[in-house]
Amino acid sequence: MSQNFLSSLVGSFAQPAAENPTVAIMEAAFRHHGLDWRYLNCEVAPDDLGDAVRGARAMGWSGFNCSIPHKVAVVKHIDELGRSAEIIGAVNTAVRDGDRFIGENTDGQGFVESISAKTDLPGKKVVLFGAGGAARALAVELALAGVTEMTIVNRSPGRGEELVALLNARTPTSAIYVCWDGPFQLPAATDIVANATSIGLYPDVDAELAVDWSTLAETMIVADGVHNPPETHLIRMGRDRGCVVLDGLGMLVNVCAICIRLWTGVDVEKQVMHDAVVGLT
Ligand code: NDP
Repeated sequence: MSQNFLSSLVGSFAQPAAENPTVAIMEAAFRHHGLDWRYLNCEVAPDDLGDAVRGARAMGWSGFNCSIPHKVAVVKHIDELGRSAEIIGAVNTAVRDGDRFIGENTDGQGFVESISAKTDLPGKKVVLFGAGGAARALAVELALAGVTEMTIVNRSPGRGEELVALLNARTPTSAIYVCWDGPFQLPAATDIVANATSIGLYPDVDAELAVDWSTLAETMIVADGVHNPPETHLIRMGRDRGCVVLDGLGMLVNVCAICIRLWTGVDVEKQVMHDAVVGLT
C-alpha cells in the first residue's frame, strides 16, 4: 500500500503576521487529533491579497483565515458568502467547496459560543463597547442568536451609527447608539457587558474602559474580546464584582475550533488549543 504524502493545507493571510498565535493553536489541535493538516502563517501585504487567494486556490488549499487588514478586502476575491458574513460585510475564514471558496465569519460565532455556554441568549439585553470589525461580527451574531436589545457604545459616532443602522435593518434586534464621551453608566437591566474595542490590548495592557463601575452588577455577564493579555482590567472588575466572566482567549480558541470544524468536520478538543497558546502571547 502506498503512503499519502500530501497533507491538507490551510493558513492565514495577515499583515503583521508574526504576532498572531493562531498557527500554534491550530497545529496543536491537528497534532492532538492525528489530522494530516498543516496551517501556514503567511505575511501578505494588501496589494498581494488577490495573488495569495489565487495561490491558495492553485495549490488546493482547503481554506484560509484572513486577519488584519484583509477581512473586508478579501470579500471580492472569494466566490460566495455565508449568511452572517454577508450581513457583517467581512470574512475571517474561507472554506473550500469544490473549486469555490465560501466566506464565513467565525469571530462573532466564537464569542456567541462562549456566552451561550453560560446563558440563553434569546431575550437578553447587551451593552457592546466598540463598532469596529470585531464589534460588527459580535453584534450581528448576538442579534442572530436572539438578543433583543443592544446598546452600541462607541467613541466615534460614524462607525457606531452605521452599526446600529445595520443591526436594525438586517437583524431582528433593536439597537441604539450611545456616544462614548465619558464614564458610561450601565443600565440596571443589562444582561451582558461586552468589550469589542482594542482597549487593554498589548502593549497598552493597563488601559481601562470608561465605565461608571458602580453600575456593574453581579448579575451581569462580563465578556472581553481582548485575548492578549486575557486578564484585562474589565475581566478583573467583573471578577471582583462576582460576575460570570469570559475572556478573549476562550473566545479565540472557540473561533479556531469553529474554523477547524468548518474545514475538517472534526470537533476538536478545546483544552489542547488553550494550553498551546497560554504563555505564548
Ligand atoms: P478595529 O480597529 O476595527 O476597531 C477598534 C474599536 O476599538 C473601535 O470601535 C474603536 O473606536 C475602539 N477603540 C480603540 N481605541 C479606543 C479608545 N482609546 N477609546 C475608545 N474606543 C477605542 O479593531 P477590531 O474590531 O478588529 O479589533 C478589536 C479588538 O477585538 C482587538 O483587541 C482584537 O484583538 C479583538 N478581537 C478578538 C477576537 C477573539 O476571538 N478574541 C477576534 C477578533 C478581534 P472608534 O470607532 O472610535 O475608533
